[in-house]
Amino acid sequence: MYPESLKNLIESFKMLPGVGEKTAERMAFFLLNEDQERTNFFANSIVIAKEKIRKCSMCNGITDKVVCDLCSNELRNKKILCVVEDPKSIFLFERIGSYNGQYHVLDGLISPLDGINPEDIGIDKLLDRIYNESFDEIIFAFKPSIEGETTSLYIKRILDGLNIKVTRLASGVPIGADMEYVDRLTLERALND
Ligand code: ZN
Repeated sequence: MYPESLKNLIESFKMLPGVGEKTAERMAFFLLNEDQERTNFFANSIVIAKEKIRKCSMCNGITDKVVCDLCSNELRNKKILCVVEDPKSIFLFERIGSYNGQYHVLDGLISPLDGINPEDIGIDKLLDRIYNESFDEIIFAFKPSIEGETTSLYIKRILDGLNIKVTRLASGVPIGADMEYVDRLTLERALND
């Protein structure tokens, strides 16, 4: 049997998504053969990221500051707000680089079947922002899904009557597609629309 510490290392790798027993073993043995400095860096990166990464107090995106670099960037357009369903989407849009406005991350999407209601996804915080900052336009950039549809309709209805243009990022993005796999051009076109 493996020594206790090696067993723990293998179990740790198995916590990662998509990693089974065999892969976990391979990773653990790989690390055992690495030098101390590299393995320290690996281990510390996990601890430090976990300690430092927090939610931006404005947009809910992930950052290691109180207010993230995007929210504190004075050069970005303060009149457009892009609402996303997870912090990862922000990095995806930033990689594409054609959007220069503000972001807001919801804690997921409304899904009545799963018991997820508007109050569970932080809509209050989003609405506070919308009421306090003077946006001209709000873009919902959710992955195409029933939940995304429900959530955008719900918020759109609340904002009815305010003088804000509400748009949705949908054209060209196929239903059920994972944003990460939607090609860059499609997404860029959808963002520009
Ligand atoms: Zn932020």
